[in-house]
Amino acid sequence: MRLAKNVFRALWAGGLAAAACLAVTWAMLALLVSGAEGLVGSFLARSVNGVTTAAAAATGGPVDWWSATLSSGGRIWPLRFLLQGSPMVLLALGPVAAGLTAGLLTRGRARLLAASAGYATVITATATVTAAVAPGELATVSTPWPIAFVLALAWCFAVGLAGQAARRVKVVAAGAAVLLIAQLSVSGSAVAAPPAKARTELPVTMAAAGPPEPAPVGYFRPGVTEALAKVGVSHAADGAKIAADTGVTMAKDPWLGVPTMLSMQSPAGKDVKSWLRANAGLLAAKDPVAQLTELPARPKDPLGLKHDWFQQQVGGVPVYGARVGVHRDAKGKTVLSLTNNFIPDLVPTGTKPTLDAPSAVTAAGRAMPGAKAGAAPELLLLPDEPDPGKPVAATLVWRVTMVADDGRSTVFYVDALSTGRIVKFEPGHLEYKNRSVWDLNNNPRPSGGPARTEGEGPVSEPDVNAVYDHSGRFYDYLSSTFGRDSWDGEGARMNSYARYSNDRNHQPVKNAFFDPLTGETMFGEGTATLTIVSHEWQHGVTHSSAGLFSFFQGGSLHESFSDVFAAFTEYKVKGSTSWKAGEGSSLGVIRDLANPSALSYDGKPHPDHYSKYWLGCADGGWVHFNSLIPSHAWYILATRIGIGKTQEIAYRDLTTQLGPRSRFSDTRAGAIQAASDLYGKNSPEMLETWRAFGAVGIDGNYESPRQQCMCFADESLTGVGLEALDPDGASTDATVAGLLRVRDIFENAESGAVMHYAQLYARANSRAMELLTTSDTLRRQTAHLMQSMEPAFRTVNTPQGDLISITQGQIDEINALVDAYLEADIDAGSDGTWTALARSELEHANIQAMVGMSVNEAYAYLESLFD
Ligand SMILES: [Zn+2]
Repeated sequence: MRLAKNVFRALWAGGLAAAACLAVTWAMLALLVSGAEGLVGSFLARSVNGVTTAAAAATGGPVDWWSATLSSGGRIWPLRFLLQGSPMVLLALGPVAAGLTAGLLTRGRARLLAASAGYATVITATATVTAAVAPGELATVSTPWPIAFVLALAWCFAVGLAGQAARRVKVVAAGAAVLLIAQLSVSGSAVAAPPAKARTELPVTMAAAGPPEPAPVGYFRPGVTEALAKVGVSHAADGAKIAADTGVTMAKDPWLGVPTMLSMQSPAGKDVKSWLRANAGLLAAKDPVAQLTELPARPKDPLGLKHDWFQQQVGGVPVYGARVGVHRDAKGKTVLSLTNNFIPDLVPTGTKPTLDAPSAVTAAGRAMPGAKAGAAPELLLLPDEPDPGKPVAATLVWRVTMVADDGRSTVFYVDALSTGRIVKFEPGHLEYKNRSVWDLNNNPRPSGGPARTEGEGPVSEPDVNAVYDHSGRFYDYLSSTFGRDSWDGEGARMNSYARYSNDRNHQPVKNAFFDPLTGETMFGEGTATLTIVSHEWQHGVTHSSAGLFSFFQGGSLHESFSDVFAAFTEYKVKGSTSWKAGEGSSLGVIRDLANPSALSYDGKPHPDHYSKYWLGCADGGWVHFNSLIPSHAWYILATRIGIGKTQEIAYRDLTTQLGPRSRFSDTRAGAIQAASDLYGKNSPEMLETWRAFGAVGIDGNYESPRQQCMCFADESLTGVGLEALDPDGASTDATVAGLLRVRDIFENAESGAVMHYAQLYARANSRAMELLTTSDTLRRQTAHLMQSMEPAFRTVNTPQGDLISITQGQIDEINALVDAYLEADIDAGSDGTWTALARSELEHANIQAMVGMSVNEAYAYLESLFD
């Protein structure tokens, strides 16, 4: 009885002490308003878990915390706060209140000890239980509970002894008042920071890594020349003259030093695999067959020719885009052509991942907060850009597609042997008769079922009817011209969304795209013309046949095939085509295939010749402009042999000859081969195809220089820059991920400010990279700034962006870095561009005003300056 009574009394006093502790802790958290403490305070004050965590932490033990929301964590030593004079020391008031309460409610040391034990039980149990109930939510203390218990008990007992001695409630009030005044004076000083001179410069992401590299002419890997001779090809045969007697044509990868598309007359022998073994030199490999697995057959060739496709694999892991196609005559006796995307001399970083697939998704998610994984992550070997005479390194990666709320997606390649390093990223969508059309009414996502499905009559919304009708016309064009059943050739549904908009104010967007992940098309209000609808669905045809890459030459070919097949569809439907992309839509005419240079961008005429290929990293390698080079060749061919035959050659080239890594020269060689298959060797059609591509400079000899694009963050965070990083700060991976977000915001520029900074970036970027690669100090400084800005990068434009504030330290660091860049620019022989840019930026924005703003407020502030 007596024992039960004592236990009850101890728990009652302990419980009240715990309640006092939590109430005071919660109130103190609310008082923490500025800087990092303000962030932690507002963060913890939102849940019982957070308040209990703070209370447990306040007793002095080390606290390891992890937040799923912020995707970050760390270790806090409360003693350090005390020594630094941080306002966080206010949190010690919680346990003090508990001790005083216990002291006031008990008499004698034994009862105080019991009450303290009761208090410690309640606090540690609550912290442990709330962490278990809401795992990963907000903060979780991972100090072992026995340590937390003993510390809580010790504090409560010690303070309780003082409380028993004083027995005056006023002590609590007086103590609180003193600390409150201390707190107010601390936060007051943070607000009244002196104004400094203002400069702006946002850190940036993608850049051209150095000057363009000219193509190494005439380079072949060992064994290739001999193998070419064996199949009757002298590698000088192609180019200036088409070998009329042999019909030989060839495209090569100048850096890899192998033929990538080759026409020939080679006895096939027993089967395709033994032919590949016998002619392994063409692939510059000893035994390529050991690395090749057979791919499913493409739809049957109407000409009856045989096409065998293979995928390169190492240790069971596919090599990205590395496909080989062997094309034989109808009897299978003669090899007529080879599509070679095989990567010889491949050196993988490994084939067994140490990072699991869910962790890869988490890493990609850091760069695209709020987005969800769109498909199961896929393990791949991602080859580096090849260099003559060198093995080709390949990184083991997870390919993760992340889909944002607005339906747009990005594909991330995450190093599978790292903690989550993002190696590369690319757009996951291509801009740009079982139909279903949803009406999004200027929203990114549908709220209900389709507005019009197959066989249903017109609805009141004209955009829905336009998408429905034009999708039907494109389907009919494919079906009646090539016998192709829908975009994938296998009768796929044609789901479309009319009046798509990702604008926050639900304004129409001038945008349309095909999403390879879902096989769906999206159309902004006013964009659903026959040619734009056909263009987007044609991306589906290209994606499901050649599977061309979506950047550089592959991306330009993707856009080119979309534009020319849109023109072919228009011709089929109307009996004529204007060869103009965008005509009649809200975009207006954006490209003219018949006369590319009639239009210009930023004062520069669109390219109409391979020698005018636009280098650079914007627009996936200027794919919406360089597309005009091959498009113009198809236009020229159509003026010579008619659209009827041109579309047959283009379709055959795309669906039977080309592979993912194909380039302009492959398209030419494939087109000549296709014309030869269709109309005969050395037929007028074949010769005209040869001439049409030659007319735009794709002649089998010339190759454009290449430009490697790299992540600015990666570059500045490697080498000597890493030494300057704060070991307690954000990881390199997290910093790169944060910068990728900034890149996304730039690329989807929706506001005047973002457009302004995106342009500023484009103008300042290559010079910054130049200076960066020559100065270790600059690299150190840049790396450090990126790391300090990481929380801002990661959270801008997300709900977490309300919780993180811009500090004076960050602004000082930005100013110092801009000064350092300007100085380095002048030292390296400035042309004055940067100084002028800096001056005009000064007139626009006062970034000092951003101190104390949340990340999102700062973003809104910048937006307000340019609207
Ligand atoms: Zn497109």
